[in-house]
This record gives sequence, C-alpha cells and structure tokens, in this order.
Amino acid sequence: MIYSEPTHKASEIAQQTIAELASESIAPNPQNFTIWFDILSGRNPALIRFIDRAKEKGIEFSPERLREIYSRFIISGNDNIDSNDWNQRMTEVASKITEALGEIGDGTEKYGAALEDLSGNLSGTVNGSDLTHMIADILSETKSMDGQVSNLHTRVQESSDELEALRRELAETKRDAMTDKLTGLANRRCFDESLLQMTTEARENGEQLCIALCDVDHFKKFNDTHGHQVGDQVLRLVGRILVENVKGSDLPARYGGEEFVIILPETPLKGASIVADHLRQKLASRKLARKGSEDTYGKVTMSIGVTEYIFGESMEELIERADGLLYKAKQEGRNRICAAMAHPGLKKAG
Ligand code: GH3
Ligand code: MG
Ligand code: MG
Repeated sequence: MIYSEPTHKASEIAQQTIAELASESIAPNPQNFTIWFDILSGRNPALIRFIDRAKEKGIEFSPERLREIYSRFIISGNDNIDSNDWNQRMTEVASKITEALGEIGDGTEKYGAALEDLSGNLSGTVNGSDLTHMIADILSETKSMDGQVSNLHTRVQESSDELEALRRELAETKRDAMTDKLTGLANRRCFDESLLQMTTEARENGEQLCIALCDVDHFKKFNDTHGHQVGDQVLRLVGRILVENVKGSDLPARYGGEEFVIILPETPLKGASIVADHLRQKLASRKLARKGSEDTYGKVTMSIGVTEYIFGESMEELIERADGLLYKAKQEGRNRICAAMAHPGLKKAG
C-alpha cells in the first residue's frame, strides 16, 4: 500500500477521517485513524467491503472488533514480519498527523475567539487609535493562523511521505514472504492465509467458493529424463498458464513441489470445473521448446481435483476432499479433472 496523495488531498482525507470517526462515535486513536484513512482514501478494497457489510448488518465497532479489523486488514499476521515493530512505526506516524490536526483545531478556536472580540468591540464606540490596535491584533492572529495552516501542511506532507516509505517497505517485505521465488505465484503460506480469509467472507456473505488442486503428471519421470532445470521451466510455464487464464478475484498459488492450487471465490462447482478444464487443456496443448533448437521436450499434462467449500467445514477437510478428487483423476488416467461436492471415498446415502 502506497500513500501517494498530494498534501492537500491527504489533509482533506485526514480531516474527513476525524469527522467520520466522530460521526460513528469511534475513538480517533491512531489504530482507528489508520483504518478509516485507508477506507476514505479508497485503498484496501477488501477492508472497504468488510466495513460496508458490517455497517449493513449493524455490527457494533467495539474496541475488540476494531483491533481485529486492524490486525486482519492493516497489519495482517505474518511471522517473518515483526508486527509489533511495524505497528509501532505506523502508530507513531499516525499520531503525528492526529496531533497536528488537534493543534490546528485549537488554533481555529483561538482565531475564532479573536474575531469575536473584534466584532464585539466594533459594535461599541471606538476611536481611530483603538481601531488601529484592533486591526493590528487581528492581523497578527491571522498571520499566526496562516502560519499554523502551512505548518500543518508541511507536517502532513512529511508524515505522508514517512507513511508512504513505511508502507512500501512493509509491502515489499510482505510480498517476498508471500511469493514463491521460482514461479512468482503466491506461495503456500499466502494460500493458507487467503483461503481462511476468503472462506470466512464466503460464509459471511452466503457465496459459493471452490478450490482446484492441480498436480503435474509424471513429473518425476520428466525431471529424471530432462533434468531439474527443465523441470523448473515446466513449473514456471504452469504458473504462467494459471495466472493468465483465471480472473482477477481468483487466486492461483504454488501449493508445493509440482502441485498448484487456485481459490475461486463467488464461483459454483460447475464454473470452477470449466475453468479447471480450460487450464488443463491450455497446458496439454503446449509443447515445451528446447532452448536454441527446433526440438521440443514433448507434452506436459496435469490432473486437477475440484471441489466446493461447504460452510462450516475446516480448511483441512476442504483440501483433503480436493486431494481425494485429484487422486481419483490420477487413477482414472491423468490429464483430466475430477469435480465433486463430496469426497470420492464417501458413498452417497441412498
Ligand atoms: P504423478 O503423475 O502421480 O503426480 O507422478 P509425479 O512423478 O508427478 O509425482 P511424484 O510425487 O512421484 O513426483 C513429483 C516430483 O516433482 C518429485 C520431484 O523430483 C519433483 N519436484 C518437486 N519440486 C520440484 C521443483 O521445485 N523443481 C523441479 N524441477 N522438480 C520438483
Ligand atoms: Mg505431487
Ligand atoms: Mg505429479
């Protein structure tokens, strides 16, 4: 997340943030400030969606819930990242903004009082010398106010630069911790966290969600025949095919070794099966070219198990079912998909 708003825009959002927090009766502490600043600036769509839905459902923003929202959407848990350290660094910057806004608030009040004094005095009888003094006073108050406003601008600018640098650093650290180096796809850890988050959202919103577990066929033989480097080339190709052929809200990830997985939110089993079969065909239709030669390494195929999330089940149950279906696809001859709502080992009642 990058804070790239120009000063005036950041100031505007910061003031809206304070106003919005006041209207929702939420304490304007640095944690809540950061949550609402992110919402009002339009970044973090998942957070915006979550808050909108919480408001629709009339969910109360208790301190515990706000803490949870902050951890989930702003600092989202990551073992490689010292959340406390980041939290503190972010909090310090947000405090500076809140403090600067507070000071300008005091300044406005003083300025307002000085103006009132002036108009009070003007309504009485005043002589020329009094007027000169009053004008000098109000001029000095105005200058001081002006100084405070430009000081606020400088401070907000400094703070948003600082926030931007922090965000960039955090985003890079997070991206590295969540990315598979070989393929550039989301890694297993990112998949685990995303699956938990996406299934929670699916359950809360009553939406269907599927996963497709893919495994390259006879990959050991391919590696043994052509070498590990060529094997890696295949894994990169599979990664590219997944990324290029799923829609933006789907999440393809490297599950481990030569296994890949895709999370398909807001998708029923039938739709997910079509996507999975399309991916399978895409890979099967490619011939892997040998570098600097007309020859190819031949075809590579994959098998896929597809299943739909059942509300309330654990992540393990969901993955285990997809794995069972993948195993069935292998048994039935490979280069195929196997899709079902139930584990292939479980006989349907009746
Ligand atoms: P199946 O069709 O039943 O899936 O057979 P398979 O040979 O693909 O499955 P198996 O699990 O027996 O072998 C998977 C092989 O994948 C073993 C390992 O050498 C290879 N592999 C795992 N990770 C990597 C990797 O990062 N790079 C390369 N080149 N090979 C890998
Ligand atoms: Mg395997
Ligand atoms: Mg395999």
